[in-house]
Amino acid sequence: MKNVKCMKVNFNEIKSSIDLAATIAAIEGQPLVYHGEKRAYLDDKSCPFCPGSGFTIHLDSQHYHCYSCEAHGDVIDYVFYAENTVDRYEAALMLRDGKIGVACFS
Ligand SMILES: [Zn+2]
Repeated sequence: MKNVKCMKVNFNEIKSSIDLAATIAAIEGQPLVYHGEKRAYLDDKSCPFCPGSGFTIHLDSQHYHCYSCEAHGDVIDYVFYAENTVDRYEAALMLRDGKIGVACFS
């Protein structure tokens, strides 16, 4: 029998109300280094997904991109891959329910 998910989650609302940079800092347990108003990096300049060092958080578009491994996505994608959730729905639920340790923008 198929596992039916009946609770609606508004992905766009989550993406627009939860800060990607704060989420990444919370998950990785590292402060971020800000480069102007548009970019941020992990403190050790590492990429969470590869041994390379091209991981960049684009603050204006709320996306991350790694120029070494081409990892790319939004805040829900990040939680999906970094926390190994079953799917993006579960990642969205974790964010919505405050399980990542970041709060929605007030
Ligand atoms: Zn990478």
